[in-house]
Amino acid sequence: MSTLTFDSLNPATGEVVGSHPKHDAQAVHEAVARAGAAAEWWAALPPEERRRRLLDYKAVITRRLRELAALVHEETGKPVGDATLEIVLAVTHLDWAARNAAKVLGRHRVATGMLGLNLAATLEYLPLGVVGVIGPWNYPVFTPMGSIAYALAAGNAVVFKPSELTPGVGVRLAELFAESVPEQPVLQTVTGLGETGAALAADPRVRKVAFTGSTATAKRVMAACAENLTPIVAECGGKDAFIVDADADLPAAADACLWGAMSNAGQTCAGVERVYVVDAVYEPFMRELSERAAKVKAGQDYGPITMPAQLDIIRRHIDDATKSGKVVTGGPDSVRAPFVDPVIVADVPEDSPAVREETFGPTITVRRTRDAQEALELANASAYGLAGTIFSRNARRATQLARAMRTGMTAVNSVISFAGVPALPFGGIGDSGFGRIHGADGLREFTRPKAVSRQRFALPGMNLTSFRRGPDELERLIRLVTFLHGRRKR
Ligand code: NDP
Repeated sequence: MSTLTFDSLNPATGEVVGSHPKHDAQAVHEAVARAGAAAEWWAALPPEERRRRLLDYKAVITRRLRELAALVHEETGKPVGDATLEIVLAVTHLDWAARNAAKVLGRHRVATGMLGLNLAATLEYLPLGVVGVIGPWNYPVFTPMGSIAYALAAGNAVVFKPSELTPGVGVRLAELFAESVPEQPVLQTVTGLGETGAALAADPRVRKVAFTGSTATAKRVMAACAENLTPIVAECGGKDAFIVDADADLPAAADACLWGAMSNAGQTCAGVERVYVVDAVYEPFMRELSERAAKVKAGQDYGPITMPAQLDIIRRHIDDATKSGKVVTGGPDSVRAPFVDPVIVADVPEDSPAVREETFGPTITVRRTRDAQEALELANASAYGLAGTIFSRNARRATQLARAMRTGMTAVNSVISFAGVPALPFGGIGDSGFGRIHGADGLREFTRPKAVSRQRFALPGMNLTSFRRGPDELERLIRLVTFLHGRRKR
């Protein structure tokens, strides 16, 4: 590997998948400059033309699904089927963003109220210009596309810095975009290590940064952005809880829990990490769960740990959990680098690292709780707040619990289902970050609201914003406002 390029490796085999430039600050700044011109061109296109181009991009990705899935498989190690699923989801979001941008963001009239009787008011959401997207490796198509598709649909140009572990996928996404939009570099990919992302965040011409990754790096990105008052969207993972209530369909809950925790080798920001099961169904649920877990194997049902350094964290959490808790499935020997078989440990203290810190591996802790309320309280006692799951046959009770969960998203009787509903915003609170991708909120995230109020006629005897305003006008105003707002509500 020369100093000017770096290799991406297949984490399962160690083989080189591709070699990519390490774009330095100068190269990043040049890309941002090109993006500035492209942003103007893209924003000036009629909305229906942007929509047409984005739907065409969607079709291009769909037609290349197998090829792209093979590349995702090579760079992340995940099975081709899982790679296919994430691309399908990304395509669904691209479709929604393209079709809904004009409706959500377009100029529309808003009511002006009694005091603004003589005004007409309009609101629209205008593009920001250049958006920087810093992406992770765990879902190298789906996750960045949650920002890229919505930022593009909102009329921005995007400079995308993929994770150094999945640069080939990032490069391919931009190449495919150029098939639909050959005129201008509206979507560019810059490759490199952390410094490349840092240069992107520090460029004052980048109007917003959409970051997905760890909380610690989000803070560094935010500090760089603070220099220029550049706003950021931060999607920083979580420690998501899975609650099994007394009336839950236990086989379905166990099945969903296992998949939510172990699929993608647990490297899912909204994956299941903590499980709370109410006392009444604890034993039968654990039987269902452990029987299923015994049949799931790394390297067969899911791929390797993509980032080598992650193995140390996973190992530390397994050691910590198995020392203090009761092993249900697997244990320290489940780590067969780069693979990790499922690990389930019960009764791990709530203040231990395995329960508090993000593991990002195929491991879960399980705890018995008195009832669903106690489960919810434990679920909410986390610094993170990304997503969670409730299993219960009582739809009303489940919805109440879901609404009370201190997270951005909750799935009921399914796992991570919110991610496949493009109209639903995605994002968290607390250490999980802030801002939203997906849905109408995700479109607005990459815009600035533009408000215009126009006086249609002068209100006789009510010229309030003038030095010629007299006591009579003020008196009329006091009478009007007393009539409108002075009465107490009964
Ligand atoms: P990071 O947060 O370090 O990296 C995420 C992205 O930020 C990558 O593209 C990375 O580039 C880039 N980056 C790194 N340093 C900087 C910087 N100073 N300025 C700008 N961009 C930067 O995550 P890791 O990939 O190292 O994973 C670490 C942990 O993060 C995992 O253990 C997991 O807990 C969590 N994570 C959460 C994800 C989520 O979906 N929320 C996704 C991935 C990880 P590069 O890869 O080149 O260093």
